[in-house]
Amino acid sequence: MSMPRTAVVTGSTSGIGLGIARALAASGCNIVLNSYTDTAGDRDLAASLAAEHEVQAIYIAADMAQASACRKLVDTACAQFGTVDIVVNNAGIQHVAAIEDFPPEKWDAILAINLSSAFHTIAAAIPHMKKNGGGRIVNIASAHGLRASPFKSAYVAAKHGMVGLTKTVALELAEHGITCNAICPGYVLTPLVEAQIPDQMKAHGMDRDTVVREVMLAKQPTREFATVEQLGETVAFLCSPAAAQITGTTISVDGGWTAQ
Ligand code: NAD
Repeated sequence: MSMPRTAVVTGSTSGIGLGIARALAASGCNIVLNSYTDTAGDRDLAASLAAEHEVQAIYIAADMAQASACRKLVDTACAQFGTVDIVVNNAGIQHVAAIEDFPPEKWDAILAINLSSAFHTIAAAIPHMKKNGGGRIVNIASAHGLRASPFKSAYVAAKHGMVGLTKTVALELAEHGITCNAICPGYVLTPLVEAQIPDQMKAHGMDRDTVVREVMLAKQPTREFATVEQLGETVAFLCSPAAAQITGTTISVDGGWTAQ
């Protein structure tokens, strides 16, 4: 793939997605930022990313819970930049509850945003990537794509599904120069994780510090959160020529969680 490349990162106005967008911009990619919020702040974020890294960056609002919006995001990105070379499926939400209390609408939303959105963006991007003779698809799964935890039924199901989707896409596209891999982060301190702390405190009957140490980082042998910068650099590596033969696999960035 010749530079500059165009990268679409879903759910990229915050947390890991923004870290990925920054790392790809730093490597010279034009960037499509996405979320469903559609605020002036979202557009400012794209403008500052462009200015900082001397690339083009735009914000496209699209609700990743909607199939048609996922596909339109990719089509709009292509209309704007002429093509799409990299798709990073990062948008995701969480809900923590015992399965018998798990709201069915939360189940549907998590499956739609954390899993089905990737099916739709990938399907929309493949014709463009095939035409270009290559591409990179990176799915942000989770350690919960490889291991389970109680009270996260929808999330664990969606993330395991994301790993299965990753392998299938890799096989289907193997002869087209298009790789598809999943990154499986452990705990990264982002707004998504911050928001889980009160629910975890309730579910486990613990105070904040105890939940962070005994529940969250208990699984992570390093006892350190991974950072959004580390996730960004991992994606940039998977999008580099060095990673051309890495496809259909998972890369854990989890402080040793899944070594156990
Ligand atoms: P975050 O809440 O900080 O950011 C999520 C982003 O997705 C935001 O930009 C938000 O606007 C966007 N988003 C949410 N719903 C959307 C929708 N319907 N349509 C479009 N955009 C939407 O979360 P994060 O912690 O950065 O998580 C990013 C991804 O990484 C998720 O898929 C998450 O499951 C995964 N992950 C996170 C951790 C962690 O510890 N933070 C660990 C493993 C995996």
